Amino acid sequence: MNQRMYGLGSKRSVIREIFEFGRQRAQEVGAENVFDFSLGNPSVEPPRQVEEVLVQLIGESSPTALHGYTSAQGDLSVRRAISDYVQKTHSVPCDPDYIYMTCGAAASLVISLSALCEEGDEVITFAPYFTEYKVFAETAGAKLIALPSDPQTFQIDFSLLEQAIGSRTAVVLINSPNNPSGVVYNEDTVKKLADLLRKKSAQLGRTIYLVTDEPYRELVYGGVKVPYLTAYYKDTLVCYSYSKSLSLPGERIGYIFVNPQAEKAKEIYLAVCGAGRAHGYVCAPSLFQKMIARCQGITSDVSVYERNRDTLVGALRGYGFSCVQPDGAFYLFVRSPEPDANAFCERAKKYDLLFVPGDDFGCPGYVRIAYCVSPQMIERSLPAFAKLAAEYSL
Ligand code: PLP
Repeated sequence: MNQRMYGLGSKRSVIREIFEFGRQRAQEVGAENVFDFSLGNPSVEPPRQVEEVLVQLIGESSPTALHGYTSAQGDLSVRRAISDYVQKTHSVPCDPDYIYMTCGAAASLVISLSALCEEGDEVITFAPYFTEYKVFAETAGAKLIALPSDPQTFQIDFSLLEQAIGSRTAVVLINSPNNPSGVVYNEDTVKKLADLLRKKSAQLGRTIYLVTDEPYRELVYGGVKVPYLTAYYKDTLVCYSYSKSLSLPGERIGYIFVNPQAEKAKEIYLAVCGAGRAHGYVCAPSLFQKMIARCQGITSDVSVYERNRDTLVGALRGYGFSCVQPDGAFYLFVRSPEPDANAFCERAKKYDLLFVPGDDFGCPGYVRIAYCVSPQMIERSLPAFAKLAAEYSL
């Protein structure tokens, strides 16, 4: 067998371990007394329109048309609908022939990195980062280089980035709104990033591509804007997913958009098609492709997450915990009151509070609290947070 794959398959993820612990505790003390903040599974229902469109589609199409194969890169009418929406919403050029339908952001990322990297190349990202990036980069034959972010703001530390980019850098991979920090890169950050990548690409004589991982694009609060990257840096691939914006993580639907103005855009798109083929990600789920075409611009009710964020941030800061204000996604990245975040998570378990240590996101000394849970659970959990804070005399 392949030893790398055996290693990946046999090691249980920390998040899964915590989730299993939570299930066991729920049997012992009752589900309402366990405060599981470990998983990024949307708690808000999908918009009604999703169900209505699915019913319409089932009623109006023949089963063979509905459930049959689409073309490998996805149904053309679906890619047209996405392209029109992107063009209209973000005022950027888009083209259905540069869109590749996939199974969520995970497939988009492994395909994009495989399309862009040669063996031994480097993918630079910023800690804290989504745990699977290392697996995806290594599957593409590349090495993941994770640079620490500015600890005050979790924005990019540009002097570190400038030093880290070298002749092996194929990709810079960003994720905004961010899992796990909740931070959004503002326009100033995006402009600086684009300028640096242009400068470095010219100096090194190789195009450094920007891959932007965007499952949380619509999950932002207080009117915060998420700049659309192709408008700032032409050599960009957008990895989009409907998992969070439409609360459909189990349906596995998303897409890759290669900016038609990117260097060697046509060839890169063909490499995306090739990588999709090589990884077996052809013809994304047909029914959900067709549903997506009719649900462009629709989002789950994210105001629930905003309320959860406000309640938690206010209460936790009041108890003495410290965290950067998250502008998006549904995570809070809280500084552990003791240096070892694993020990902090263990202590929190005494109160049936379940978090994920930041070590898994390349950022020890912090914990991630996923607040995509019911507002009632947040309210019920507050006394437990207060007791936990008291243990540390915060
Ligand atoms: N990227 C980030 C930052 C995520 O948080 C997730 C899922 O939580 C993914 C990618 C994978 O998303 P999907 O379920 O659409 O594959």
